[in-house]
Amino acid sequence: MSETMKMQAEAGAVPAGSKPVAAVPGIEVKASLGVTGRRRLVVMLGLLLALGFLANTLLSYSVSKREIHRSIVENELPLTSDTIYSEIQKDLIRPVFVSSVMAGDTFVRDWVLQGERDVPAMTKFLGEIRTRYGTFTSFFVSEATRNYYHPEGLLRRVEQGSERDAWYFRSRDLDAPYEINVDADTASPDTLTVFVNYRVFDYAGKTVGVTGVGLTVDTVRRLLSGYQQRYHRGVYFVDRSGNIVLYGDQPSHGSRQIGDVEGLGDIAHEVLARDSGSYQYRERGKDYLLNVRYVPELDWYLFVEKVENEALADIRRTLYINLVICALVTVAVLWLSSLTLGRYQRRLEQMATTDRLTGLLNRHAFEIMLEHAVAEVQRSRRPSAVLLIDIDHFKSLNDRHGHLAGDRMIEHVGALIRSGLRASDMACRWGGEEFLVVLKDCAADDARQRAETLRALIGASPLTLGGSAVTATVSVGVTAFATDDTPVRLVDRADQALYAAKGAGRDRVAMA
Ligand code: GH3
Ligand code: MG
Ligand code: MG
Repeated sequence: MSETMKMQAEAGAVPAGSKPVAAVPGIEVKASLGVTGRRRLVVMLGLLLALGFLANTLLSYSVSKREIHRSIVENELPLTSDTIYSEIQKDLIRPVFVSSVMAGDTFVRDWVLQGERDVPAMTKFLGEIRTRYGTFTSFFVSEATRNYYHPEGLLRRVEQGSERDAWYFRSRDLDAPYEINVDADTASPDTLTVFVNYRVFDYAGKTVGVTGVGLTVDTVRRLLSGYQQRYHRGVYFVDRSGNIVLYGDQPSHGSRQIGDVEGLGDIAHEVLARDSGSYQYRERGKDYLLNVRYVPELDWYLFVEKVENEALADIRRTLYINLVICALVTVAVLWLSSLTLGRYQRRLEQMATTDRLTGLLNRHAFEIMLEHAVAEVQRSRRPSAVLLIDIDHFKSLNDRHGHLAGDRMIEHVGALIRSGLRASDMACRWGGEEFLVVLKDCAADDARQRAETLRALIGASPLTLGGSAVTATVSVGVTAFATDDTPVRLVDRADQALYAAKGAGRDRVAMA
């Protein structure tokens, strides 16, 4: 049996109903941890638990955070970008092709070179294109006459210097064969339209006009809006100069120029210098993860971005819940361990100070108490006395009834002694079948009287052992405290008195 288990077993063996023993100063420190030790242990335990929980929670939070970040950057945003790109190809790139076919058509060139005489032929041609390819509109602007033709006929003349006709002069002077321009349609100004403006050359390579088709951007915008709302990500197109040219229902940023967007403006130059890439920036406290891809057919950049903070909201909530649970568990564990430690400490203290057979103080505890009592009596000079009680002929009781019966008799006599004690008295089991009692505020005569009463009580209280009533008698040595007493001298005197009582025939009280 381990030392602790033995102690616990012994603690459990303290007779039921025994009076709790007064705290013995100095005993508790030797007996167990002590209050400070216990507090230190609980604090250490709390710190370890809290640190463990915290490390674990924060680690898993940071792993999840990294995983979400990686998934957004590597999967979500590129995937959105891919899908939109293929949709755009369907919606926008075909019109580019159609416009290139129009620009290369010999009918258009010949018609211009022959002096634009047959207007219905041109409007019919434009009408055919519109119907066959399902575009919103189609047009041709002649360089020679500056006439703007569309499926309904000759609309008007474009004018140099007019802001709404600037697109024509820009397209005409392009190095590239075409440009894509988002604008209000000249024929129906309320509809935002994507125009493909394709240059038309004569057979000598001279620009004779600009032709192409226009289509409403509603489908594209709906697509962008869908992504914006469903997946909480910003989707928009940016041209080479950094202008946000096309977006869903709502713009992702307040500005129409990415250079003016906080955070994004700082990396705008770098973003537009490359064909694709993943970026990160911070605008008004929000961390954006951005995926950019260049769409060569449009000469635009497709921007797909997501606010990381929003994506992390869920795991942040989980983090907070975890922290609260950890705190509660820590507090509960600390409370329980403090409670258990306290109980064990009290038990250990009791075990260390109590005689398990009688429930009286043991000799070790009593010696400490006696020291205090002697000092106190010397200080207060109040009369006090000591009784040393020894059971008579105990050896023969052991021999006759057995050792266990002897134990029961010791228990019995201990209980009788205890029953006669006052609150200020102290009693202990001094040795095998010897008891030492300190009577405070008790003069010698009184002490003798009380010893006599006790002796008579024990002598008149038989105990049934193995079916027969056995009565033990005791001899008592009594001595009063002297002013210059030490505990040793005091007990020595009581012992001498006891010896005298034994010598005088036992079952009696003798004064020192
Ligand atoms: P006396 O009248 O002179 O006191 O005779 P005695 O037989 O009582 O002699 P003494 O006090 O010297 O003997 C004490 C005996 O008590 C010795 C020992 O065998 C026995 N004893 C000591 N402790 C215990 C105990 O815990 N239980 C039991 N059953 N017997 C014990
Ligand atoms: Mg003895
Ligand atoms: Mg004896």
